[in-house]
Amino acid sequence: LVSAVVDNNRSEEVNDRAIRPKTLAEYVGQPVVREQMDIFVSAAKLRSEPLDHTLIFGPPGLGKTTLANILATEMGVSLKTTSGPVLEKAGDLAALMTNLEPGDVLFIDEIHRLSPHVEEVLYPAMEDYQLDIMIGEGPAARSIKLDLPPFTLVGATTRAGLLTSPLRDRFGIVQRLEFYNTADLTHIVGRSADILGVTMDREGAHEIARRSRGTPRIANRLLRRVRDYAEVKGNGTIDKGTADKALDMLNVDKHGFDHLDRRLLLALIEKFDGGPVGVDSLAAAISEERGTIEDVLEPYLIQQGYIVRTPRGRMATRNAYLHFGLDMPKDNDR
Ligand code: ADP
Repeated sequence: LVSAVVDNNRSEEVNDRAIRPKTLAEYVGQPVVREQMDIFVSAAKLRSEPLDHTLIFGPPGLGKTTLANILATEMGVSLKTTSGPVLEKAGDLAALMTNLEPGDVLFIDEIHRLSPHVEEVLYPAMEDYQLDIMIGEGPAARSIKLDLPPFTLVGATTRAGLLTSPLRDRFGIVQRLEFYNTADLTHIVGRSADILGVTMDREGAHEIARRSRGTPRIANRLLRRVRDYAEVKGNGTIDKGTADKALDMLNVDKHGFDHLDRRLLLALIEKFDGGPVGVDSLAAAISEERGTIEDVLEPYLIQQGYIVRTPRGRMATRNAYLHFGLDMPKDNDR
């Protein structure tokens, strides 16, 4: 069982835990998601029912895990965390689910990576709180049915399209997280700075926010690195000048693109004449995994209008050429 539970520890997690919002009211931005979840949570509580199964999707670092934790807190229940790739056998999932208290939240991160076998065990559990598993092997094998306490499954994934449709259809609530605007990110880094005891003015916060790829996790990471810079090279206070210099040193450019973003855009422009090119060729050209391009790099570049996805592949837009001070080829009508 222990191996099936992912400890929430990733890097820099001690600080992370302190700055992670704990209630819906502290969850910055995402107004649509916040308003809807507030209603669904209140309604479930009024009826003394568990919250309906909830699927949260969106690029990494936008607050899926945070929201799952908040939903459990707001419902007044415990949360158990696991992830798709960790649940190898149906028994791993069974062990977790039979340990739930009524109303608890079971959070499965990367739920699109569940094995088909485990996924099948999940269907009756989600629908009827019934566990139907085989124990033993060969002639001695038999199937047992167990009643589970009513619970809420919260699943997180980077793209809803990665889920099989039977699994997607079993979620009563589906929420899509959007990239954050600069005002919201300014609010988030300001709040984090307060909690971490960092002195920062509004322009400093704005500069970090602007260059954070619309992503709270990146905003908080840049805040920590800019703080390092301010403490060593300055007097510890973060203003626009310090933030600028620190972010330049970190190779985060004026649009918040890092070296990987720039490598992708430049490969598209220089090696493939701006496209259209398939994602696999692009991945090979920059020696990255296809999944990194699809989940991490391109969602923001597409949202910002630097890349477009066409039926024939990815293409660089005029903005992409302008970003590097390059002229766009004449025969391009994009
Ligand atoms: P995901 O699970 O989508 O990869 P996380 O929930 O781990 O993202 O969020 C990354 C970090 O960003 C968290 O540690 C949290 O501090 C911060 N964060 C995410 N969403 C918000 C939000 N809406 N308001 C404030 N901080 C947020």
